[in-house]
Amino acid sequence: MRHFRRELWFNIPTRRAFINITDQVSVCVKESGIHDGLALVNAMHISASVFINDDESGLHHDFEVFLERMAPHEPVSAYRHNDTGEDNADAHIKRQIMGRETVVAITAGKLDLGPWEQIFYGEFDGRRKKRVLIKIIGE
Ligand code: ZN
Repeated sequence: MRHFRRELWFNIPTRRAFINITDQVSVCVKESGIHDGLALVNAMHISASVFINDDESGLHHDFEVFLERMAPHEPVSAYRHNDTGEDNADAHIKRQIMGRETVVAITAGKLDLGPWEQIFYGEFDGRRKKRVLIKIIGE
């Protein structure tokens, strides 16, 4: 079995953002030389997500509205976690809703995604360096 590991680094200038990383994952699949296998893509931080969905700006706006309704950033004093001096309790909850990782099949040397499926990095507490792990196994 072959294996491949790479970290993608981000320093998002805003608190929250959704970044399409499909092309970067595809490059890794190509570099790995793996023809059939699995690609794990996970956020390495507990206030960020990796998920698969449509690259459509209206939908991303809807995600933002939904997540703010479920776990609003303000007032920060509403969260026990923020008693630690942090202000990112909402980011931990948003990450939990959107998920830590995704796994994509690799078939014939390519990501075997469904129609309109794209891979996203979801940032919920940005303005600092954070990373995503890509691990590919197969043959
Ligand atoms: Zn925290």
